[in-house]
Amino acid sequence: AHLDRIGAVDEKVHAFLHVDTEGALKAAKAVDDKRAAGEKLGPLAGVPLALKDIFTTKGIPTTVGSKMLEGWIPPYDATLTARLKQAGIVILGKTNMDEFAMGSSTENSAYGPTGNPWDLTRIPGGSGGGSSAALASFQAPLAIGTDTGGSIRQPAAVTGTVGVKPTYGGVSRYGMVAFSSSLDQGGPCARTVLDAALLHEVIAGYDPMDSTSIDAPVPPVVEAARNGDVRGLRVGVIKEFAGEGYQAGVMERFNESVELLRELGAEVVELSCPSFEYALAAYYLIAPSECSSNLARFDGLRYGLRVGDDGTRSAEDVTALTREAGFGPEVKRRIMLGTYALSSGYYDAYYGSAQKVRTLISRDFERSFQQVDVVISPTTPTTAFPIGERADDPMAMYLADLCTIPANLAGNAAMSVPCGLASEDGLPVGLQIIAPAMADDRLYRVGAAVE
Ligand code: GLN
Repeated sequence: AHLDRIGAVDEKVHAFLHVDTEGALKAAKAVDDKRAAGEKLGPLAGVPLALKDIFTTKGIPTTVGSKMLEGWIPPYDATLTARLKQAGIVILGKTNMDEFAMGSSTENSAYGPTGNPWDLTRIPGGSGGGSSAALASFQAPLAIGTDTGGSIRQPAAVTGTVGVKPTYGGVSRYGMVAFSSSLDQGGPCARTVLDAALLHEVIAGYDPMDSTSIDAPVPPVVEAARNGDVRGLRVGVIKEFAGEGYQAGVMERFNESVELLRELGAEVVELSCPSFEYALAAYYLIAPSECSSNLARFDGLRYGLRVGDDGTRSAEDVTALTREAGFGPEVKRRIMLGTYALSSGYYDAYYGSAQKVRTLISRDFERSFQQVDVVISPTTPTTAFPIGERADDPMAMYLADLCTIPANLAGNAAMSVPCGLASEDGLPVGLQIIAPAMADDRLYRVGAAVE
């Protein structure tokens, strides 16, 4: 049924870069056979899923939304991919994304934009816009995203779906193409909080193949999603996430959610996190710096695209020609920014300062979590903007992640859950919930309460 739905609507939505019809039907049949044989199966066995094209899939193309990896077929599965398969989850295909996960609208994909199912002329968020659009257009009930600065939560917010960035180190990065390794985190996307929790449980947990993977039990997310009791819970509202640049309809729905939580028995506290003002600036030094280093591996020699290798050119020239042809403008902008910020003489002024700000942001969170159990904010300052509106203005594009970036810099767990439609445009609004590291279950408790 989901493959039929993809056939019927994806020409318009363009959520998928690759649909694996044969593999999906085979995986579904394998689950049926196991069930018929009386084998005990997990709760998501047989449930279809849309996988962001940043995770390696053995034998299935993985492009990361870039021409650089066009035609590349990975010889191995990411840990996350392997865990999905092990749980009997049926992978329908790979979803569209901003090239190398750099963007907030999916317009930076080398394979064309994705439409927001609520209004196809608007963006579905980014970088994981293919995954959020697949959910919102009922092409898949589950999806996977990755969140470096908001790429799970912001797409969830603007498509009226649920997206979770687990605690940094909670979900393995092995086989997830690296953008900014100290920030990147894979996580679950779904249409309900409980669905996201069930998927979270499948993909989370220690992996010796990822050196930053946390070796501790997965927080009880499913139990929390089934519970949804917020009585006595202390909820912090960050004072700095309001004011200029925040759409009135977004703030209306946010304030309503605050009231709802109060009615449900939570205690609401106003908090100040003064360093958050510098989060965006710090992120746009740290993320490009790490990207410039991570993307050095795309040299035209090891894998993917190779341009100009006609027997007359040096390896260096082939690398330069390949990178010129294979990377899009936003990726090049980030590599140049990062290379500059890391260069000797500028390192202390840029990268070094950004790392200090990162520490201050962690301290703001630590101080907050001494007073409250979770903090909340709008996920994104505005609803989905029209395709093209911010495409030529990187600064305007970067502002979409104003509220989501601090949780990445500090490594906290965070969720976006739908909280209604904005009155001025009838488009979905997301509520962001942030919890301390390894307290991911609190997200699900609060998410289930407001859903
Ligand atoms: N929009 C942010 C960026 O462009 C975040 C991307 C992400 O989370 N992958 O870097």
